[in-house]
Order: sequence, then C-alpha cells, then structure tokens
Amino acid sequence: MSAQTSRVPSHIRLTSHSGGPDAPPLVWGAPTAAERGPVIGTTGTRAHRNVIGTHSGSYSVYRALAVASGALSREHRADLTNTSPTDVVGPYPQWGDPAAIVSLDPWGAAVADVFAPQIAAGADIRPTIAVTKAHVQLPEIAEAIAKGRLRPDGRVLTDGGAAVVTKAAVEPVWHLPGVAARFGCSEADLRRVLFEETGGMYPELVTRGDLEVFLPPIGGQTLYIFGDPRALSDPSVELTARVHDECNGSDVFGSDICTCRPYLTHAIEECIAGTQRGGVGLVAYSRKEGRALGEVTKFLVYNARKRQLGGDTADQYFARTECVAGVQDMRFQELMPDVLHWLGITRIHRLVSMSNMKYDAITGSGIEVGERVNIPDELIPADARVEIDAKMAAGYFTPGEVPDADALRNTVGRGLSG
Ligand SMILES: [Zn+2]
Repeated sequence: MSAQTSRVPSHIRLTSHSGGPDAPPLVWGAPTAAERGPVIGTTGTRAHRNVIGTHSGSYSVYRALAVASGALSREHRADLTNTSPTDVVGPYPQWGDPAAIVSLDPWGAAVADVFAPQIAAGADIRPTIAVTKAHVQLPEIAEAIAKGRLRPDGRVLTDGGAAVVTKAAVEPVWHLPGVAARFGCSEADLRRVLFEETGGMYPELVTRGDLEVFLPPIGGQTLYIFGDPRALSDPSVELTARVHDECNGSDVFGSDICTCRPYLTHAIEECIAGTQRGGVGLVAYSRKEGRALGEVTKFLVYNARKRQLGGDTADQYFARTECVAGVQDMRFQELMPDVLHWLGITRIHRLVSMSNMKYDAITGSGIEVGERVNIPDELIPADARVEIDAKMAAGYFTPGEVPDADALRNTVGRGLSG
C-alpha cells in the first residue's frame, strides 16, 4: 500500500445500509427549524447522516480529491465564527409549506444559529446558504452612467460606479418526494433514474427509502440583491427581477452568439434603476450551463448550426440542439421558483425575461408577475439574432412582431470562419 492510500481506512465505509440510530429526524416543510431538524450530510460521523450525498454540490468531488491527496483531513470541522449572514432572510410562511420549496434548505443560512446546541454537542452541521455583501462593477453600468441613463446616488450606486449588493450562494438540497411531484413522476422512478444515470453514484437512492433528502452533485445558484433584502417579500415594494441561467461564453467572455450577457447587464441596470426609485432588485443566477447540457454539447451544437446546409438559420435553431442533445433544453424551470419563495417573494412587478418557461414556472408557483421586460433590440448582437428570433417564434415573450416561417429562414448567422 502506498503512503497516499494508507491515509484512509482499509475498509470501505458504506452508507447504503447503515440506518443511523443517532441521525436526527428531518421533517421537510415543518414550520420551525427545531421541528424540521438539521440537514446532516457529513462524511465523518456516519451515524449522524440523515441525507443522501454530501455537501458543496459538484465541489464535493474536489473535496474527495483533497482528502485523497492528503491536503484535507476528513475530520476537519468548519469553524463558523463570524460567518453568519450579513442580512437575515425569513423565516417566511413559504418555508413551512413542504410543496413550496423542494430544492433548497430554507434554514440553510441559519444553521449556526438555529442548530447551535446540536453543533456544540458535536454534530457536523454545515450551512448550505451563505449571505454576504459586495460591490459589483461592470463596463455596461459605467456606460449607462456615462450616457446619463443611471446616476450614482452614493447608496445603490457609488460615485465610483459600483452597485452595492447583498449576495447569497445557495447549494441544492432536494426533497425527493417534492422533486418527483414537480416533475410528475413517482419518487421510486426518480430515485432509480438518478441512481442509474449517475453510474450508480449514490446507492442509498435505491436502498434507503427512509432518507428523503438528497444533496445532488450539481451547481447551485447565486443571488444578487439590490436594495433591502427584506423588502423582497413586501408586494407593495416594486421588485425588478431576472432569473438567469449560466452561459459562461457570453456572461464572462462576451461571446456574441447569444443574448445572455447583454440581457444580464440590462437586468442589472433595470435593478439599479428600480432600486433607486424606491424598489428592490434581484438577479438569481443558476449554474445550468448551456441549457444544462454543458459546454461540450453547446459547442458541438454551435458547429452543427454553422456547418449545416444553408448556414445558421433561425428556423433550424432548435432542431440542431435536438439532433446533438436529444432535447431542446434540460434546464427544466420546475425547481427555479424555490429560491423566490425562500426570499418570501409573492409579486414580481417587472420580470426581466422573455422566457415563457420561466414565466410559466414562476406564475404557476403562485407568484404574481406584472410587466415583462424584453431585451432592447439595440442590445442584441448581430449573430444572436438567430437565437432570439427562434425563441420568439417558439413562444418567448415579445412586445413586437413574432417572426414567421419566412423570417426564420432569412435570419442567418455568421459562418465559422467569419
Ligand atoms: Zn448564452
């Protein structure tokens, strides 16, 4: 045995059949933290575990690498001194409705407070949500100031052009019966498919029907809140909101094949302006890269679009994705409204999105939506016309004309060598 592998015990520590007598009960949707109980996904004291999977979403795999390499002790416990949220969120009535929130732990930011006695007694209970403050600076906001569309007020927007925000990072915590209900399948089928399609990664999905909560190894969400976070739950305060799905190529690197970054920065501008009017703003950013298909699939689709006969036309936009991925979209907005309910939101006055899927999910979950704000035409990159026209024809909201079949054939993007 090498020095590397000798660091870990020689026996495999299975979780699949050991019902932990010391695991505290977890009653999803119970009205108080004490009645609900803590989410314990520790890999340390196995008997305490009351969920399937472990913390940190996809980063749990890196944590395993850190243990395997000897960089991290598996016994390490987080010192939560001074880590508490900068702003208290909730509790809201939605937290006590087991069907309103099924994909995050509403008490996830408050564990160091609400489960302090259990932590003091040695339980490894970790926050799944963290709330902090930030200043965000974007060239598009600097341009909006230069052109006079936005004005620094020293409160929402500093003299240096930075937007003052509260931001929250949210890790996924799934209540499997609730997730199954959202997708209209049985819990047994959901568990079996999750097990099989991850290559059998979590045997407890099929062996431990008593464990109803799963910490899936996927990306989470980040919330950027403009103005007072508590005002988000007040339907009389104007709320400007965008729910945005990650598109690294556009969001970060400015790739011009889609409208993601310009729409995102437009939403941030609208959030700042709305907050300066006395409202509040929210951008909820979900790690669902490339319609949750991932970047490899996304780039394959780009090539297939641009190499097809007749070039990259809007009428073939969805077909090319479906050819490569088998579906048009894997984002499935069914779980997206949970984070809005965590924030206590009951009304969005201005939804900065044209997506009918997002709109339907939000309104279907009981949140009222007033105005829908489209991306201004002048912000659409030329090569992204293909995408936006295809989406409008497929049902995306537009205050203007919906492109017909002829128009879609005539919307052609740049070639690969252009
Ligand atoms: Zn994009």
